[in-house]
Amino acid sequence: MGSLSNDSFAPLEPKEFSQESKKVIDFIADYYSNIEKYPVLSQVKPGYLKTELPDSAPYSPEPLEDILNDIDAKLMPGFTHWQSPNFFAYFQINASTAGFLGEMLCSGFNIINFCWLASPAATELEILVMDWMAKMLQLPPSFMSSGNGGGVLQSSTCEAIVCTLAAARDKVLAEVGYEAITKLVVYSSDQTHSSLQKGVKIVGIPPSNVRCLPTAFSEGFSLSPQTLEEAIRKDIMSGFIPLYLCGTVGTTACGAVDPIEKLGKVARKYNLWFHIDAAYAGSACICPEFRHYLDGVELADSLSMNPHKWFLTNMDCCCLWVKNPDSLIDSLSTNPEYLRNAPSESGNVVDYKDWQIPLSRRFRAMKLWVVIRRHGLATLRFHIRSDVKLATYFESKVAKDSRFEMVVPRKFALVCFRLKAGKDSKDDENLNKKLLQEVNESGNAFMTHAVVGGVYFIRCAVGSTLTEERHVEGLWKLIQEKATKVLLDAIV
Ligand SMILES: *Cc1c(COP(=O)(O)O)cnc(C)c1O
Repeated sequence: MGSLSNDSFAPLEPKEFSQESKKVIDFIADYYSNIEKYPVLSQVKPGYLKTELPDSAPYSPEPLEDILNDIDAKLMPGFTHWQSPNFFAYFQINASTAGFLGEMLCSGFNIINFCWLASPAATELEILVMDWMAKMLQLPPSFMSSGNGGGVLQSSTCEAIVCTLAAARDKVLAEVGYEAITKLVVYSSDQTHSSLQKGVKIVGIPPSNVRCLPTAFSEGFSLSPQTLEEAIRKDIMSGFIPLYLCGTVGTTACGAVDPIEKLGKVARKYNLWFHIDAAYAGSACICPEFRHYLDGVELADSLSMNPHKWFLTNMDCCCLWVKNPDSLIDSLSTNPEYLRNAPSESGNVVDYKDWQIPLSRRFRAMKLWVVIRRHGLATLRFHIRSDVKLATYFESKVAKDSRFEMVVPRKFALVCFRLKAGKDSKDDENLNKKLLQEVNESGNAFMTHAVVGGVYFIRCAVGSTLTEERHVEGLWKLIQEKATKVLLDAIV
């Protein structure tokens, strides 16, 4: 790669491919060995990189070693280490050896299956692996390929929500006319992920037509079916058209679960598209003790969850199942001459381009298939349970320290807690903000916060692949130590 002559330009030369890839893998393996040495949350200031790297592209090829050295010296300080065992922020993004191998194979083959013909095995493997996942989650046959439903792998829940909103929108507008788009109403709770709000905007429904229905502490911040039905009735009386309901299994702020079966009945009664967002907690539902949260799923039109969060599958991977793929296809299909082919025209194959926003698509089925095969259902269950066990352990520590309280009961591996030693709620909020800042600035752990029901609290999301009991123990010691400091500072 050192010279620019024609005979030496070989960007995919197998021997070099092998040598350089191995160097990168060793580099990543070293990173994992040393990951605890870095501050979890990057401590750099905005714009720091400008002075570190040249502001124009190189004219001539550069050696891999130089690039890796720059990653080490220049980029690493600006990384927030999502794979650190001391990462307890947001929701974890699981990496695993199997997930990486699958990703390598996906990227290595670099094939694209926008239509069946463009790579038959990729499409058929996706159908198979989505059926495998459906069975692990005990979804009804109506979501599987054998039952006229089906699954597709997308990049994100946001994308899945946009696709289902578009499908629901077009089905209704085809009946009532396109002018009625300003009358369509979307229902969710005030805990629903912001991707719904974004999706609504993208599909052209007025954002003011999203009903973020209030939830309460007394009901565990889940959406009440009565509140939903009242809102629907009111909208109908005002001339609106109820379109879509998003229920959540495992909300982002506090892990709340909406009552799927009861909401599903309301959705069926008023003929709403019912989507279940189980981005985070869907993975847990492969364990029988968590599966009941999905009871009533047969009443839904679609369900999505992210294996890239809690299912040992490296970014990116979102499973979306729909009961009626034709409704997706009606909204999202295109049929340009240059893609026409006999199998597609026969109607006997799946063309995944019509189940998603982009035309091109990654071979994500390979990744998920490798993850499932390398672990098996038993180990995947063990993985979920051991994270839940660690979260339970953390929860028990919180319970033993009277300066703290749990804010919402824990359901999965997300612990919502706070210091409650202040004079009033404002004082409590300031104390918790300071505590969180102290913990994160120490570099020894990273957590984030949320506010539900007006209460500011700290979220400890246990579930990074490398996290062990000693890390959770270390985290709790750090929190206690910083809490003592913050409380002392408050007195002074
Ligand atoms: C993480 C999360 C999302 C967003 O997922 P993306 O794949 O990043 O779009 C949506 N809903 C819930 C409940 C989540 O936890």
